[in-house]
Amino acid sequence: MARLRVMFRRTFICVTLLAGAAWAQGRMAFTVSLPQPATHTYHVTFRCEGLKGELQDFKLPQWSPGFYGIGDYSRNLSNFKAEDASGHALEWEKVTKNTWRVVAANAPVVVLTYDVFGTTSFAANTYLGEDRGYLSPSGLFMHLAGQLQHPVTVEIQLPPVWKHIATGLEPVKGKTNTFEAADFDVLYDCPILVGNQESYEFEVKGVPHYVAVENVAADVDRPKMVADLKTMVTAATQLMGDVPYKHYTFLMMGRGGGGIEHSNSSSNQFDGNSLSTPAGYLRWLSFIAHEYFHNFNVKKIRPLALGPFNYDQENLTNMLWVSEGLSVYYQDLVLVRAGLMNRDQYLTKMANAIGSFDNAAGHHYQSATESSQNTWNTGSGIGGDRNTTISYYNNGAMLGAMLDLQIRTGSGNKKSLDDVMRGLLQKYYVQKKRGFTDHEFRAECESAAGGSLAEIFAYASTTKEVDYAHYYALAGLKLDATTENAPGGSIGLDTDTQEIPPSEMAAGGGGRGGRGGGRGGAPAWKLVVVDMAANSPAATAGLKAGDRILQVDGKPATAAVLNEAITSKTPGDKVKLQISRDGVEQAMEVVVAPNTKKTYRFSPADGATAAQREILDSWLRKAI
Ligand SMILES: [Zn+2]
Repeated sequence: MARLRVMFRRTFICVTLLAGAAWAQGRMAFTVSLPQPATHTYHVTFRCEGLKGELQDFKLPQWSPGFYGIGDYSRNLSNFKAEDASGHALEWEKVTKNTWRVVAANAPVVVLTYDVFGTTSFAANTYLGEDRGYLSPSGLFMHLAGQLQHPVTVEIQLPPVWKHIATGLEPVKGKTNTFEAADFDVLYDCPILVGNQESYEFEVKGVPHYVAVENVAADVDRPKMVADLKTMVTAATQLMGDVPYKHYTFLMMGRGGGGIEHSNSSSNQFDGNSLSTPAGYLRWLSFIAHEYFHNFNVKKIRPLALGPFNYDQENLTNMLWVSEGLSVYYQDLVLVRAGLMNRDQYLTKMANAIGSFDNAAGHHYQSATESSQNTWNTGSGIGGDRNTTISYYNNGAMLGAMLDLQIRTGSGNKKSLDDVMRGLLQKYYVQKKRGFTDHEFRAECESAAGGSLAEIFAYASTTKEVDYAHYYALAGLKLDATTENAPGGSIGLDTDTQEIPPSEMAAGGGGRGGRGGGRGGAPAWKLVVVDMAANSPAATAGLKAGDRILQVDGKPATAAVLNEAITSKTPGDKVKLQISRDGVEQAMEVVVAPNTKKTYRFSPADGATAAQREILDSWLRKAI
């Protein structure tokens, strides 16, 4: 990996050589202070020693690994200054949107200071408020161009009211609140959560696992929560045959949604109140298991494009259906193996996922591989309009199940997708120290199956209708589909919740209809029309992409309010919308149409053979 990185970075190094050599032999150290969390501002000092060169380029990543969208983090950075060791100001210019070129004039030490503003609480964004600090490293820590391989330390100066720091970074012995990373790839893979989170600890095979969690409802049983996490990790590491890290940290933040995986930690954002019901608790366990399983699948078992990373631009791959979809597949399979999810719950969830995929028109237009390639265009990592695109998450999970069942059948139930995952870990991560190509992934699967898997890989790369029933029959399961009018209605509208830019807020457009605008200057949000299905009620009513929905039936518009309005009505009812188009408000009425849905259900197949039943039992077995 190190060798690949040097070759990969050479173009950037050449740019720096033209400007003046920049070889750093000395220490690189960050100090981060956050004296007033309510100001949402981190003060960062970056001291670089052992430099040589007339000019030095410092860069901030454009994106955060795990979230496949350009983040443009440099827009949150201000008050940039550069000095030499004696405190003399050095001239600088910003030469690209993420490059600051400093006239170092051969100064051996350059000290940068800058502020980073963070108000959006999300796993890929740096955030600071009175409730917590979350340091998303790509948005906070600069690097010296061409020097990603350099070791680095980070000291966090906590405000007195906060006591706790959670991160996958290695603590520096003898130094308070100071951590080290072997290189900047490690630093960019280790977010830091600070505040007064509850903290727990457990061990699996002697390896410590730390849990920092906040906002979980008081009635949630903490010891059970920690015990279940331990059982999940035990099942996952047993499945993969390895505990491939020195320690692991679960960063669990309150409210909102979304998580990002890291090599020895994960950032997980969720509504802590949702854990109070059995269904909500199981959903949470699935979500945590997903981000955890990624420590194997994508952080170590990875497509060629996903590491070493180019932090300046998009890193495209066809294979997110493997990296994300198979992580969805394994999140629940791990829970079954752990005894935390039963077989019925698993199969019901799988049947629902097939239904949700089939009921979205996008599967006629986009394949899993196209969805992977295009995800950077939507900036969301999860696809775009469900009328024309698919989610490689749920499609990839179904492809994973089909691969697993065909491998089990082809090998006489001697091999499974588990063997493929373990094989990929050993062959590509441990031995070759690189990612795999599309062809190599397929070859590993076909070798385990003992034959061609052309049909499944065609499903991954085309929009061909999938014969699900055929594959689940391999495990003695019958898959029935029924089409019916579902409760509630449909208007065929796709919307997106977007942050309101300060310019619109200043013009008086903020807050109205948004879900934010409240706590401590947090951003306000707007609900914007993205697309309509052809001939749908939304299209007939005249809605257009870009329209901002202000009110739904007189209530401030949010995605949840709109969804509630549509699903609580019966076909023929009207939804009254107040919209803004090009700054002009108008009223609209949309007639709710019937909500037709295909529903899938698994049951044992009457004529299942002993071999098929054996596949079912070994596939969905409790293993610990
Ligand atoms: Zn994921």
